[in-house]
Amino acid sequence: MALNIQNKLQQSQQSFKKWKNIPFEERQKYFAKLSEILRARKQEFGEIITQEMKKPISQSIAEIEKCATLCDFYANAENVLKPEKIKTEFQISEVHHEPLGTILGVMPWNFPFWQAIRFAVPTILAGNTVILKHASICLKSGDTLQEIFEEAGFPEGVFLHFEISHSEVEEMIANPIIKGVSLTGSEAAGRKIAETAGKNLKKCVLELGGSDAFIVCEDANLVKAAESAALGRLQNCGQTCIASKRFIIHEKVFDSFLFLLLKNFKKYEVGNPNDAKTNFSEMAREDLADDLEQQYKTALENGAEYILPLERISKAGFRPGILKMNVENPINDEELFGPLAMVFSGKSDEELLAIANNTMFGLGNSVWTSDKEKALFFAENLESGTVSINQITKSDVRFPFGGTKNSGYGIELSLYALQEFTFKKTIMGN
Ligand code: NAP
Repeated sequence: MALNIQNKLQQSQQSFKKWKNIPFEERQKYFAKLSEILRARKQEFGEIITQEMKKPISQSIAEIEKCATLCDFYANAENVLKPEKIKTEFQISEVHHEPLGTILGVMPWNFPFWQAIRFAVPTILAGNTVILKHASICLKSGDTLQEIFEEAGFPEGVFLHFEISHSEVEEMIANPIIKGVSLTGSEAAGRKIAETAGKNLKKCVLELGGSDAFIVCEDANLVKAAESAALGRLQNCGQTCIASKRFIIHEKVFDSFLFLLLKNFKKYEVGNPNDAKTNFSEMAREDLADDLEQQYKTALENGAEYILPLERISKAGFRPGILKMNVENPINDEELFGPLAMVFSGKSDEELLAIANNTMFGLGNSVWTSDKEKALFFAENLESGTVSINQITKSDVRFPFGGTKNSGYGIELSLYALQEFTFKKTIMGN
């Protein structure tokens, strides 16, 4: 292992020994300060995001505001990690929640600040220290995050960012100083990280891809649903894990919903990401646009029909497309990470549900109906970490966030996230 990496690991380990002994309520004060910095400099940080991955500036600034909201939540959170007393015959009978140590976070480019903050804040508040390996196009975001943790007064080494290769990630996970790893990224990266973590008996959290359903029942408010469907699919240029990707529509409203969906999709045109009015931009990288175009072609070759063609208008820019899918199409099993929607139709609620669950992914489905019982039927039977009713799926710091099936395992956000990188120590006796 390179000497500079070994040094950083040791720095993080030394820092952990002190940080874990600072009381929870004292640690919380640093997050209040971090929130202040994020809000005060949201324009500057938003510009870094837009420069790195081309997200429209208004959405980049909104991402920074969301990070500040997350810090506020944890700065004021109940201490769910305080020792618990268990009623037994013993005089001393307690469970303590202990931090694990230095945790590695491997993060993606699609929300450069949010993903890193979402992982790091509860992990650090629980008493751990964090090392961030950011996506290779987000190094400035990573460096800026380390700077602002320091500016907020966190002791040196509590949050460290450094540039490392995939093989160095593997070496780090194997290093005894690293006690756990959290990956947000693709299924392929998840398999690799989980394999390395498993080999080294390290705890691992995986937040992976999705191909979430957007179910339109026959009694849905079609106007609102179609507007939200376009937003859900196309914000962040379609590069969101919990974006609605498969639109599953009751046959009785199929034509009328598609008419409205088409109208809404046509409102999204690639603009200058630095312009405050732009709501849609190019994809983050040219190779990602190549991948999406290839998936589109494969879908057509295997029997899909386009309702709106996906048109490449620049190196990484598209006019968004809509595909009517056939059940046996191999692309049904893949995540479309860009501005391309898949539509399906079903004859009954049971059939809509079966199509929705017919995927290896399970992140955040959404269902549109004006009938509460029907909503409950879908909520109870959809196989996903979140079910949203009459709204698109969005993460909310107050609720746990995570996937099921090939979308991964482990929890981020909410009070539950505070426990992810802790172990329970039993203390009992007389
Ligand atoms: P990615 O290619 O898997 O990369 C994610 C991170 O993992 C990057 O830092 C990347 O580093 C690193 N990485 C990739 N392969 C690795 C390996 N073999 N060993 C070590 N590190 C490795 O994913 P992405 O393209 O950045 O992000 C898009 C994916 O993330 C989509 O599938 C999306 O659905 C998913 N995602 C999930 C969530 C969620 O909460 N469930 C949230 C956001 C995104 P490099 O950049 O250096 O390659």
